Amino acid sequence: MWRLAQSGRLQSGFLLGVRRYAKPSKKASTTISNSLKKLNFVIPNYISVNKLSNLLNCRSERLVKDLTGLGFANVTQNYILSRDYVELILQEYNYELPASRKQLNAQTVYDELKSPVNPKLLQKRPPVVTIMGHVDHGKTTIIDHLRKSSVVSQEHGGITQHIGAFQVVTPVSKKKITFLDTPGHAAFLKMRERGANITDIIVLVVSVEDSIMPQTIEAIKHAKNSGNETIIAITKIDKIKQPRERERALERVTADLIAHDIQLEQVGGDVQVVPLSARSGENMDLLEESIVLLSDVMDIRAEDSNKVAAEGWVLESQVKKSVGIVATVLLKKGCLQKGNILVCGNTYCRVRNLLDSAGRPVTKAMPADAVEVLGWKEIPEAGDQVIQAKNEAQAKKYNAKRIALLEVEEQAINVEKLNLERGLKRDEDDAQDENEDGEDIDSTKQELGPKKVNFIVKADVSGSAEAIKESIASLGNEEVVCNVVSSSVGPPAESDLKMAQITDSKILCFNLGSLPTEVINNRKGVDIRQYNVIYKLIEDVTQVLTDNLKPIYETKHVAQIDVREIFEFTLKKKVIKIAGCRVENGKIFRNSTVQILRNDQVIFDGKLATLKQGKDDTLEVTKGNECGITFEKGFEDYEAGDKIMVYERQRVPRYL
Ligand code: GDP
Repeated sequence: MWRLAQSGRLQSGFLLGVRRYAKPSKKASTTISNSLKKLNFVIPNYISVNKLSNLLNCRSERLVKDLTGLGFANVTQNYILSRDYVELILQEYNYELPASRKQLNAQTVYDELKSPVNPKLLQKRPPVVTIMGHVDHGKTTIIDHLRKSSVVSQEHGGITQHIGAFQVVTPVSKKKITFLDTPGHAAFLKMRERGANITDIIVLVVSVEDSIMPQTIEAIKHAKNSGNETIIAITKIDKIKQPRERERALERVTADLIAHDIQLEQVGGDVQVVPLSARSGENMDLLEESIVLLSDVMDIRAEDSNKVAAEGWVLESQVKKSVGIVATVLLKKGCLQKGNILVCGNTYCRVRNLLDSAGRPVTKAMPADAVEVLGWKEIPEAGDQVIQAKNEAQAKKYNAKRIALLEVEEQAINVEKLNLERGLKRDEDDAQDENEDGEDIDSTKQELGPKKVNFIVKADVSGSAEAIKESIASLGNEEVVCNVVSSSVGPPAESDLKMAQITDSKILCFNLGSLPTEVINNRKGVDIRQYNVIYKLIEDVTQVLTDNLKPIYETKHVAQIDVREIFEFTLKKKVIKIAGCRVENGKIFRNSTVQILRNDQVIFDGKLATLKQGKDDTLEVTKGNECGITFEKGFEDYEAGDKIMVYERQRVPRYL
């Protein structure tokens, strides 16, 4: 178990927060025998420790003890285990696990559609280049210059648009280079987070006037970490006209770069330096040729054939008035053509048209090409990966798989939160127990925050689900809040019921028509409520939250009885004291709750043991009548002059 935890399996997003790890002891090894036991149940996605112990036919206390021995901290019988943990536990208990389950998640579900690398199809492709450096050192000016040359090189001479990337053809070697034109934007950060490195070469821009500045250092760090090859462009050389002065300034910058551990050619490394002016265009061709030279050395290749599934990344996406949803895709491999089917995020596309950066239709896109792709069902997100599917049915199937996995992941996060909250609640109870000496526990309470009441939202369309989630998420106060465990489209499925059961959620159905009675009266006992008017739903959720506010009671005195005299009887050699009383106000009942007051101090709080009129037991005595009373718990410390107050505790209505 510890070994597995260390191996990284426990880092998966599915795994639920076991709050603190301790290095496990060998306690649980007592459960292990040599032969593997057959598993006679299907492993659920989530299960409480209690239920798992039922399935394993062992006592839950034993399972809790073993789990603690295995390094799970603060586990109780209510603790919810995710499937990954259940599998680890089953291994420890020596069960035979089902054939290995592929660890799919929403991020990797489309990997199944990818074609394996086919070395025979690998062909040289243009390099993809990012320009980085300190602000004002000339990145945009270089890009503008390159883009202009890209326009000039195109026959029609039109204006290129910003679509996230563009291509230039080098003047001498006539080779293509793809430049990414907004390297700092969110899509790139997202791709980087996912470990995707779509850039081959970084051009690090350093102004000859300012040399290395803070963002230059950042860019150097990034270049080193990404493993990309680097070319240095020393910009703005036109600003220093005098050749000797220019020489000295260039030497200063190169010395600074070497000091930052950049292996320049001057010191025997392989990083080329190109002094240039993007304003005058001096040496810009040299920069392009240096990139081509480097990419030749790097021997950058991809399969540029339609025999493999096309793969790429969305650089930008938007809705254009005339054509609808458009996404710029930088192709990584394959050959993208009209009619191809692509999946991306939660959407898919039958490629209706492909446009280059000048807005001209093209018949196909090859690796390192950036093209605008038209034909998306919904807008894909910049930074998401695009993969070709065989046909529309397969794309829809994989979209659905991914959406289901996303829901499971969302639920996992919520279950994790729930486990944490339950743990905190237990800590609070422990703190309260320890606090019997009257210490102030308010600080603990404050940390715990308000009580969360869980709901699962199911609606007819995603817009309604989202709107309901937003409307109810803000309901509540500092004492109780609404927690939406999940919100999705369609009638409650078995998985929703299970999740509702585990998280103690009510399911709110909106505009789903009338649900089958077996769903409404489900065997899990989940409270399913149906609405078709949103304000009714909000009203109802508000009421549920109100019902969860801590009840406040007030004490109301309903009768007053005076103790006039004390009588003593001997029964079976035991002296019994009876309070001889008169009812001054109201009525006293045999089952009344009373307080006995002496000088306004409460000396007893509890129930009657007997109520008699004369020698007979009675159920009630009204105003003006006399009676004899004894009290429960053997209380006899009353005397003439004491007052008995009959009271009722009444719940005070509370509102959010
Ligand atoms: P960025 O912030 O790195 O994108 O820098 P810009 O490309 O916006 O350039 C910042 C300023 O420097 C602008 O006023 C440019 O016109 C100017 N600039 C950029 N490159 C050169 C160059 O090679 N020579 C001269 N003289 N000015 C330049």
